[in-house]
Amino acid sequence: MNVSDSELMAGILTRSGHQTVPHLDDADVVLVNTCAIRENAETKVINRLKHLHHRKRRHPELIIGVCGCMAQHLRDRLLDAAPYVDLVMGPDAYRDLPVALDSLARGVESHVSLTDRDPFVGLRLDKNEDYADIAPIRKEGIRAWLTIQRGCDKMCTFCIVPFVRGRERSLPLKLLVEDVEKLVDQGFKEVVLLGQTVNSYHNDRADFGDLLYAVGEVNGLERVRFTSPHPADATDSMIDAMANSPTVCKHLHLPLQSGSTEVLERMHRTYTAEAYRTLVSKLRERVPDISLTTDIIVGFCGETDAEFMETYQMMADIRYDSAFMFKYSEREGTLAHKALPDDVAETVKGERLKQIIELQENISADINNAAVGGTVAVLVEGESRRDADRYYGKTDGFKTTVFPKADSHIGEIVNVRVHSTTAHTLIGQKV
Ligand code: SAH
Repeated sequence: MNVSDSELMAGILTRSGHQTVPHLDDADVVLVNTCAIRENAETKVINRLKHLHHRKRRHPELIIGVCGCMAQHLRDRLLDAAPYVDLVMGPDAYRDLPVALDSLARGVESHVSLTDRDPFVGLRLDKNEDYADIAPIRKEGIRAWLTIQRGCDKMCTFCIVPFVRGRERSLPLKLLVEDVEKLVDQGFKEVVLLGQTVNSYHNDRADFGDLLYAVGEVNGLERVRFTSPHPADATDSMIDAMANSPTVCKHLHLPLQSGSTEVLERMHRTYTAEAYRTLVSKLRERVPDISLTTDIIVGFCGETDAEFMETYQMMADIRYDSAFMFKYSEREGTLAHKALPDDVAETVKGERLKQIIELQENISADINNAAVGGTVAVLVEGESRRDADRYYGKTDGFKTTVFPKADSHIGEIVNVRVHSTTAHTLIGQKV
């Protein structure tokens, strides 16, 4: 989503006559696009800003901006910690970027001293802002990110997203299909639909399943993916499209968060562990060979050993292809921060995380090993970083696959017989 928002900002700024430069050292303006989801994301940003500050000491005319969720989340505190920041702009205010840069540049021209210059702050959240008219500037490639929905209405107690990205709003279906047609014309082969709870998409009477079908039918498009859906919005309409549209990939990233119904309740996830298991059975029945991945949080407020073990057991039973696993990180302003103590010791969180990572690594390796001897369809993305004689690409189920180039080329789908695997990669030969 951050990549997609950066492309949007590049679109807005390019339209008003600015241009991106390949090297940081050539830039007059540096915008740091940020995430607020966990504390370590914020720590990374502060370190990046310190680094930029060194450059600004030598080049006082350099304009430094902080954009995105952390800007929205930390506002004044960010300016206290990094007073050299010229611009703070949240996710619904990017239209003001050109005006902000103009006014800051005027300050630079009139030699207003650095300390006297007021930062430009744009933090209004606007439930009508969907940037529908802005054409993002994308890097050339095979895969394009397409934001179909902004904001979030779910209110999970651990999550900062609704507070920094505002209310949920969907873009018009017709416009999105036209966008995908343009992307195909530009040479993209795969589109990833993006939204915070992407499958709660709705536009007039169309739902997410309708959108998947419509996008899947665009001529010349090889693959459609999406991230991240919410289990409570995994409707039959979505499952139908995954089962029946040949373009829609049979890969679902389905964040579980916890395998304990009590913890899920404290998280306000709106489903039980049992309902999630039933959904997984239905998905596996209706979409054979579906690859499932997930997000897990350990050490959420009040999580007991027994509740944690329910998560462990659920991961062992479901056997995800892969998982993103996190220690709970309390975020100021969330419902949990206000109402539930962050009472699981850091060491316990660390130990639990270690246990599920080990479990998941073994499961992922087993699933990969089971692919040996079989053939997978790989959309070729580019040259392998480690070996110039090989290409890499993804399977329909989103597994990275590496194989000798031979007579294949970037952008085509090739059948690869898998002969071996590493921890996260399939290795094979074109057949
Ligand atoms: N709306 C997206 C959320 C993106 S954040 C979705 O539902 O998929 C990606 C993941 O970060 C979440 O699924 C969750 O597992 C994790 N996460 C969010 N807030 C967190 C927090 N406060 N501490 C730890 N992990 C968190």
